[in-house]
Amino acid sequence: MEYRRMGKSGLQLSVLSFGSWVTFARQTDDHTNERLMTQAYEAGVNFFDNAEVYSAGLSEEMMGRVLKKLNWDRSSYVLSSKAYFGWKGEDKKPNQHGLSRKHLMEACHEALERLQVEYLDLYYCHRPDANVPMEEVVRTMNTLIQQGKVFYWGTSEWTAAEIMEAHMIAKDLGLEGPAVEQPEYNLFNRRKLEVDYAPIFRNVGMGTTIWSPLASGILTGKYNDGIPEGSRMSLEGYEWLKDRAVVEDKINRIKALGDFANELGVSLPTLSIAWCISNPNVTTAILGATKVDQLTENLKALEVLPLMTEEVKQKIDDIMGTKPVVIRN
Ligand code: NDP
Repeated sequence: MEYRRMGKSGLQLSVLSFGSWVTFARQTDDHTNERLMTQAYEAGVNFFDNAEVYSAGLSEEMMGRVLKKLNWDRSSYVLSSKAYFGWKGEDKKPNQHGLSRKHLMEACHEALERLQVEYLDLYYCHRPDANVPMEEVVRTMNTLIQQGKVFYWGTSEWTAAEIMEAHMIAKDLGLEGPAVEQPEYNLFNRRKLEVDYAPIFRNVGMGTTIWSPLASGILTGKYNDGIPEGSRMSLEGYEWLKDRAVVEDKINRIKALGDFANELGVSLPTLSIAWCISNPNVTTAILGATKVDQLTENLKALEVLPLMTEEVKQKIDDIMGTKPVVIRN
């Protein structure tokens, strides 16, 4: 396993990590999740990602039970959660979601309880919240840090301007700004990380824990000939994802990328993941896997990483046509 420093912070994250969105929702017992987490940990994965909203709190509960059972040394792994969406679904009341001091503090306490730990290494604002002053967010995250309940705070899917506003306020107040951002990053979605955040990487320093490196599985090629039974896109409640992801134009490019992976003698999922982590501004790619075989395959991305030369990346750009165009005046 390779470990990377999370931005300017001193924290080291494994370049491949493990997340529990959708994945844990689908397991009715703890057994599969225990196997997946054990497999990841034994391969050197040290970061496990969660959020209050994943399966409405059940994902944190399940991970908490598994961690308790496995009894790994707490200092050997990094655990995260995120607040914003709340976990009470349609019934949520005004202060049961968002980034107010009230919700952030309460959500953090609930996450600690559900995960059965004394502190979260990383705690994210899962989305920006236009209804809460930035100063309230910055102060609250720093309070949690000062109380020892959170070690580093971060953002997820914030714009570069919002991240910079948080940094400027934190600097003015002598407090800590966000150390890490969690954006989507994969061969279909590149602009934010490669263009928008570039000045932040350059001028402030920021770690990134990127999500959906396989664009929800589509970059494995498994949807090339339709929707396989039991796959994420076949699940009730995820129709929005299928409509967005499984479109002819994308599938054609994935088929061509699959041919190129064959030429290189590697699998499509490993090529897609290795491409993500070949970007030095990516601290870690969070893997999602519902089966042991998937995780075994995806962890091999580390072996494919050395193949990501400029020439290979250029060929990938030519096939995908998703390299962001930067217009400078
Ligand atoms: P991916 O894009 O890697 O998709 C993972 C899914 O693809 C798996 O659950 C599986 O789904 C399928 N898959 C994975 N590997 C293979 C393989 N080798 N062969 C065939 N199918 C495969 O990641 P996720 O979308 O799951 O995101 C990863 C993590 O990122 C989440 O768990 C979460 O922690 C975080 N996240 C954060 C968000 C945020 O807003 N901050 C948003 C979304 C995710 P299946 O078997 O069901 O087809």
